[in-house]
Amino acid sequence: MSKTFNKVHAIRGMNDILPNESYKWEQLESIIKSLLAQYGYQNIRTPILEQTRLFARGIGEVTDIVEKEMYTFTMKKDADKVDPEDMLTMRPEFTAGVVRAAIEHNLLYERPLRAYAMGQVFRHERPQKGRYRQFHQLSVEAMGFDGPDMDVEIILLLARLWRKLKLTNIRLELNCLGQSAERAQHREALIAYLEKHVAILDEDAKRRMYSNPLRVLDTKNPAMQEMANNAPKLFDYLGAESKAHFEAVCERLQQAGIDYVINPRLVRGLDYYNLTVFEWVTDALGAQGTVCGGGRYDGLFELLGGKATPCVGFGLGLERLLELADEQGVFQSPQETEIYFVHQGEKASQVAALLAEKCRDAGWKVMVHAGSSGFKSQFKRADLSGARWAVVIGEEELAQNKVALKPLRATENGTIEHQFEVPQADLVQVLAERK
Ligand code: ATP
Ligand code: MG
Repeated sequence: MSKTFNKVHAIRGMNDILPNESYKWEQLESIIKSLLAQYGYQNIRTPILEQTRLFARGIGEVTDIVEKEMYTFTMKKDADKVDPEDMLTMRPEFTAGVVRAAIEHNLLYERPLRAYAMGQVFRHERPQKGRYRQFHQLSVEAMGFDGPDMDVEIILLLARLWRKLKLTNIRLELNCLGQSAERAQHREALIAYLEKHVAILDEDAKRRMYSNPLRVLDTKNPAMQEMANNAPKLFDYLGAESKAHFEAVCERLQQAGIDYVINPRLVRGLDYYNLTVFEWVTDALGAQGTVCGGGRYDGLFELLGGKATPCVGFGLGLERLLELADEQGVFQSPQETEIYFVHQGEKASQVAALLAEKCRDAGWKVMVHAGSSGFKSQFKRADLSGARWAVVIGEEELAQNKVALKPLRATENGTIEHQFEVPQADLVQVLAERK
């Protein structure tokens, strides 16, 4: 029975968020939630697990995510009986699941919907700074809106978030992917061009040149940069409507005073985008500089079996955002304990527990020393807790139905007040006078 047990560690690329960091997460999340409320967004919470085929279809078979980054498994033990519906995947992003839910529950029956989801997503990538296997995203989805006005509204929402977090070192890159017919024409020209340059294509590019040639241009391979720069531009294949949409986006951004750079090679790693796509990029995070990516996905509802529904949204990486905000010093140390109860003996401990509840009723943050130890070590804990007051109940106080109130922090003139006695019945009142 005495077999030793090898200690268990967290899975590589999946981080514990400990109390010395979690308060920053809570503050970030609350800033984000109040901002989203200002723009009329409602929360939606979809399951972490979905059928694999949702993501294969929704994100696209020939994408990094679906090709190599998904955590996929089945609970069926008998390989012969596994059909595609039995394959499950831990969400690698939110949009596909949110759209699935919107279709399933007919959420857009009466009116369009602004929805957001926030939480963990999972991608099997090589862990490094800013890149994890479990990470957090905010996903914002404006569903049922077709105009450039909504493309710009969500960009303004993001710009406001940067302001709230005091981020300045972050820039907007923008592109227009047109509609699928326009992309098809461009794609033909692009494939012909890539065929002419096949000699300098790397393995990734060769594999993708027929399945997803646009992604070939997204390459980071230095040897392919010039080829990519001179490739046929999608923009030259856009029709009047697509161009008008894009021009309207640009015009509204200018009106709102939002700087942007048009990046014709910005295609995004997900298949479902059309018309406007954008990324917010920073140089402050090293190699993992993309904080947020988004765009229009007018075709996704239909792709997933719903009615045609124009949508625009974005995915924002919270680890990267939190790091940027932390550098700006926007997070405040968490609210500490205000009152610490120090006591001696079983009876005093009982009285302390009940008085502490009364103080909490009055809104104070209260900690009662747990267990029994000497006054000296209890006062040390009281100090460490950050409390302003120690409420002391020793034998003498107990006998007289009193407590001693001991100020632990210096007043403005640098002195610490002496402790004084207060009848137990008056404690809450006396503290309230000194709030
Ligand atoms: P990247 O080019 O960095 O791989 P991506 O295009 O795969 O990003 P999206 O799918 O658009 O990213 O996800 C939106 C955001 O989520 C990214 O801009 C980034 O901030 C964050 N993100 C993506 N992958 C990771 C990861 N493995 N770890 C931490 N954050 C990530
Ligand atoms: Mg990626």
